[in-house]
Amino acid sequence: MIRHAVLLICFVLLSAGSALGALRIDLPEKAMNGRAFLVTIHTDSQGPVLLKWDKKNVSVNCEKDSNEYNGVALLSLPRDFSKKTLQISAVEETLDGVNTVTRTIPVQHKKYREQHLTVDRKYVELSKKNLDRFYAERETVRSMMKSLSANRMWDAPFVRPVAGGVSSEYGVQRFFNGKPRKPHSGIDLRGKKGTPIKACADGVVRIAASHFFSGNSVYIDHGQGVVSMYFHMSKLLVHEGETVKKGQSIGEVGATGRVTGPHLHFGLRVSGVLVDPLPLLADKK
Ligand SMILES: [Zn+2]
Repeated sequence: MIRHAVLLICFVLLSAGSALGALRIDLPEKAMNGRAFLVTIHTDSQGPVLLKWDKKNVSVNCEKDSNEYNGVALLSLPRDFSKKTLQISAVEETLDGVNTVTRTIPVQHKKYREQHLTVDRKYVELSKKNLDRFYAERETVRSMMKSLSANRMWDAPFVRPVAGGVSSEYGVQRFFNGKPRKPHSGIDLRGKKGTPIKACADGVVRIAASHFFSGNSVYIDHGQGVVSMYFHMSKLLVHEGETVKKGQSIGEVGATGRVTGPHLHFGLRVSGVLVDPLPLLADKK
């Protein structure tokens, strides 16, 4: 009986000790709809640490750094996120039990503008053949997104894929020939045909193919739920399965697919959400 009581006290002390500051998360002061943000984890055990937010989660492996373990992750909020606050939890299983840290940060709401474009009718009113092609390509992308690498290969900030300015920003509600379409899911960067396009971070090329809407397209899996995409290229310089380094040329700017002229559409998907890639670039101009 006494031995049980001593064991119980030890257990309570250990649990209390591990809960006191052993697991910490660094968060930005606020989050924004349509954006991703960096979270840094500090802990005294090897992890992994599970981050949970907005019904999503990501598992983060931590690396030893002097006397603690650190990890980073990108969390995302969809363009239409409407709550005023965001709750983020970090959960870690240790030998002493489960540690949980929960924090709440405010969400600033960005209003995205409208844009009206005139495009070739064949891209708005699709023939059966083109519609079937689009469905098949969409399925290829969807199934690829289900088998992403869990290990982080990216590091922030990301490299700007081409130096040209933004001709169409993320989140714009688009109207093609007067008909509403999905909001713009990435950024359009200016570039002459043939301008080299750089990979924004280390990763593995998962798709390098010609698609109906996006033209010659490359999708790079950067691990831990982060995927970058590059559309409308004139030329592809990588193949599926190839490992690429941050800054490596992966293709050239073109005007393939549904476009009005040569540019790079650059998209970023973080934990299933297409976010504005611009705030994560080293060169944000
Ligand atoms: Zn675009």
